[in-house]
Amino acid sequence: MRPAHAVIDLSALRHNYQFAKTLAPAARALAVVKANAYGHGAVRCAEALRELADGFAVACIEEALELRQAGISQPILLLEGWFEVTELELIVEHDLWVVIHHHGQLADLAEARLARPLNVWLKLDSGMHRVGFAPDEYPAIWRSLENSPNVASLTRMTHFSRADEPETGRTEEQLAVFHRTTDALGGPASLCNSPGVLAWPAAHGDWLRPGIMLYGATPFEFEQTHAERLLPVMQLDSKIIAVRQIETGEPIGYGSRFVTQRPTRIGVVAMGYADGYPRHARDGTPVLVGGQRTGLIGRVSMDMLTVDLTDLPQAGLGTPVRFWGNGLNASEVAAHASTIAYQLFCNLNRVQRLYRD
Ligand SMILES: *Cc1c(COP(=O)(O)O)cnc(C)c1O
Repeated sequence: MRPAHAVIDLSALRHNYQFAKTLAPAARALAVVKANAYGHGAVRCAEALRELADGFAVACIEEALELRQAGISQPILLLEGWFEVTELELIVEHDLWVVIHHHGQLADLAEARLARPLNVWLKLDSGMHRVGFAPDEYPAIWRSLENSPNVASLTRMTHFSRADEPETGRTEEQLAVFHRTTDALGGPASLCNSPGVLAWPAAHGDWLRPGIMLYGATPFEFEQTHAERLLPVMQLDSKIIAVRQIETGEPIGYGSRFVTQRPTRIGVVAMGYADGYPRHARDGTPVLVGGQRTGLIGRVSMDMLTVDLTDLPQAGLGTPVRFWGNGLNASEVAAHASTIAYQLFCNLNRVQRLYRD
């Protein structure tokens, strides 16, 4: 069989969730498992966290129902609420929590006759300007929902746009807007994604929403003390399937992007962009061959890529190659492909996922 596979370490996932809770001992935490748990497998990850997690968060009802059908009975929050009013019945039936972030949803709720009232997270746009209610309308909406027969509980919620860039001042501004707008309303507060959990203790509030940190990738582009304690969950591995010796001055792969500067020993690895490895990875993107660092050379193809083995004489046919995981953080790889670890994980495709616990 083709040797490319992803090993998912569920004990590392639990470690990272517990670490999030350690950073904010007074808070509860929804494990964000949207987008198939960032490519790690939502059902397997939720099952692994079932005894620990205070709840889960997903992007849509399809993702929530997949968890409910797998027997996950903890709270599940729909991070964008419902997209069509017809979902409300299922939301009640499966006891899902909802974010409400725009007026269309308020109108739906006002007209609905629900068998049971909903647990609502009311989203404030504190400055990201993607979704949420503006500060000047938020308190009135909160108070009208307090009086709605369709609402069982209300949680104050916002989302940071630059929590991964602590020097910008933007998170302080968003935090100030949040407090100014919502403190008088009471109710639990939820503000923090992973960089918030890791770097903004003043924003922890009552409910954390960690995503990427659960999977062991740092959201920061700099070394951050807490992020260094995360354990990578996904090991993306394959093997060398061919070795070539190429003369100086010869092009390697599509488009001749890389031209050898010396006699070069090339390893061909069974991994390509059809597996989710980023096609935009530049020459020199780190890979571990037999546990030792070397670099990608040449363009990534659909099923194969090429690495430099010139300084690794012991490496040969069948030597294991790691693309990210222990020893090589996905965030570092992502930076070489002008993207973020989130996207590398979500793009995982074709490769078999093997679970270790
Ligand atoms: C995806 C998401 C999160 C998790 O973000 P990370 O940066 O992965 O921790 C938290 N809150 C909301 C609203 C989200 O959409």
